[in-house]
Formats: sequence, structure tokens, C-alpha cells
Amino acid sequence: MFHPDEVIFAPTGQCNLSCLHCGVSRPSATLPAAAAIAFLEECGTGGIEKVGFSGGEPFLEPDFLCEVSQAAVGLGMLFDRLMTNAVWFKDEAGLKAILGRLFEAGFDGKFGVSVDSWHEQDIDKLLLFIASVFEIWGRRDCVDILSVRAPDEGAALEKLASIARRFSGELILEKGEPAMICDNGFEARLATGEDIPEALSIDVYRFPCSAPAHAGSWKAEAWFVDDFCEGPGNVLYVHPNGAVAACCGFANENPSLLLGRIGIDGLSAMMANAASNPQVVACYQTGLGKTRTLLEAAGTVFPGKTDDQCFFCDWLCAKSLIGKG
Ligand code: SF4
Ligand code: SF4
Repeated sequence: MFHPDEVIFAPTGQCNLSCLHCGVSRPSATLPAAAAIAFLEECGTGGIEKVGFSGGEPFLEPDFLCEVSQAAVGLGMLFDRLMTNAVWFKDEAGLKAILGRLFEAGFDGKFGVSVDSWHEQDIDKLLLFIASVFEIWGRRDCVDILSVRAPDEGAALEKLASIARRFSGELILEKGEPAMICDNGFEARLATGEDIPEALSIDVYRFPCSAPAHAGSWKAEAWFVDDFCEGPGNVLYVHPNGAVAACCGFANENPSLLLGRIGIDGLSAMMANAASNPQVVACYQTGLGKTRTLLEAAGTVFPGKTDDQCFFCDWLCAKSLIGKG
């Protein structure tokens, strides 16, 4: 079942980078903070505990981030991630001024920094962003790295190694993949259970690169294993135009995954829409794996197999295959 515990605001679709894999549309509309705060209040009283930020590059709308963070603190909500490419600022003074305001506003979630071969970041700016966050928040465990796999992993590995070197840490691999950047302080924290703010601890999360429906991604040897959208699911994702989607996954701009619009539809109406929305029910309740077998039994022939649920979801949306009698 769809049971969101977080609301994510994307204040803008605009971005200072142009990553080749990016699937985010670039509407000129930006989300007004007042409308977001009104919806946040509804979410807070409606049992949704967490708030996060995404985009586009959300730091292009710093006033929004500060105002909504302050409101979230007032509502007693918890912060999840603020996603960023970390290189949106012009100079160090500007960077620290905005981070300082966000700190004063009460944001104490994690910074989800995108680091992979797709994001063409200036390494010095990337390192300055992380160092400034560590300095202003007074701890070195408030950054996560979100990393999308690419055919050439060289740039990703070099950037991760640079981060490890800059902060005197070590890049830890698990099953051959980057998993963490940490230092001896982190080991001590694990051993003693003490909170050691200066301990370096940056988790690295790796993700597949989803292909859009039109590109096709049908060459897998086996079908995906259903996880009922465990990763990017169960959030209310507010797009810059106020439309609210049922996840922060790759396909979340499809009309089939939209539940309503802030300022027009209330939270309870959106939840009622989710309960009767065939695409949402297929993803969260039936399961996309079972949905696939039901479609095949009804005569649908897929071009091949895919191991990527969000691509499969996007393809079903594009073909309007769910909800047909
Ligand atoms: S930083 Fe993010 S939003 Fe910006 S172009 Fe890259 S993937 Fe898209
Ligand atoms: S499968 Fe669909 S609903 Fe689930 S997370 Fe992916 S895009 Fe969102």
C-alpha cells in the first residue's frame, strides 16, 4: 500500500548543470514557499513526519529552502535529504552565506550530493561545498553521496578518491563498488557507540541509470524482482508546478503517477486519489512483477526483459497499459 512518510519539495526544475542522463524537465515555474508551507502544515498534521528537497538544483532557490526549513522546525518535522550537485555557487562567500542561513533556519538533515561520471562538477567547488557543510554544521557525518552508475566509471572513482584524500579518509569498496568514505574516528564511533561529530562518515549509495520509456531497456537476462518501490517510493513529491507525484522515482513526471496539485487538492483528496489510481495500486499493492504476468496473460507482449522497475513503470505509463479493462 502507498503510505508516504515524507514530503519532498522540488522548488525548481532549473539547474546549473546539464547532465546527459538527466530526465528532469525544466519548467520556468518555481514553487512558491507560502504554498509549500501550507501543504507542509497539512502533511505535518496528517502524520507525515519527514521533509526533503530535490530539483533541479534546489539551492538555486535558497529563500525557499530557508523558509520551508524554518516552517518544518516549527511543525516538529524531521529532515531527510537535501539533494544537490554541490557546485551551484559563484564564490566561497556566497556559498557560506547561503549555508549559514540554512543552518540558522534549523535544517539538520543530510546533504545528498550527486557524485558520479554523469555530473561534470568542478572538483575544487565540490570539495569546498563539502568542507563548508562540515564547518558550518560542526560535524562530518552530514553528507551522503548518491551515485548513478555509468558506462565509464573513471571520473566517478577519481572524484570519490579526491574526496577521501581531501578529508584524510579512505574510500571503502564493498563487492567492488564504492560504499563509504570514512576515517579512524568513524571506527572509534562504531566501537564505542559514542557520538563523535568530527568522525568522517560519508555513505555512498549507488544506483542504476534508468532509461526513459522511449529509449528502451529490454536486454536484461531476467526480470526485476518486485520491491514495491522500496527505494524511491512512499513519498509525496511536489514538482515545481505544484503537481504532487506518488514517488521520487524516475517516472514521477508521468500524469499517471500524479495525485493532485497543492493549493487545489488537499492531502486527504490526494490519498484518496492514490488509493484508486491504477498505476499507484500496480506499483505499491499488486506489485509490478505480478502486474507484468497479468498483462502477459491478457495478451501483452513485451519487447524483452528489463531488470529496472522504474523504466518498466515509465514504459507502462507511456503506453497507458494500466487501468485498461
Ligand atoms: S545536477 Fe541533477 S538536476 Fe541538474 S542536470 Fe544533473 S541530474 Fe539534472
Ligand atoms: S516503479 Fe514507478 S512508482 Fe515506483 S518508484 Fe519507480 S517510478 Fe516511482
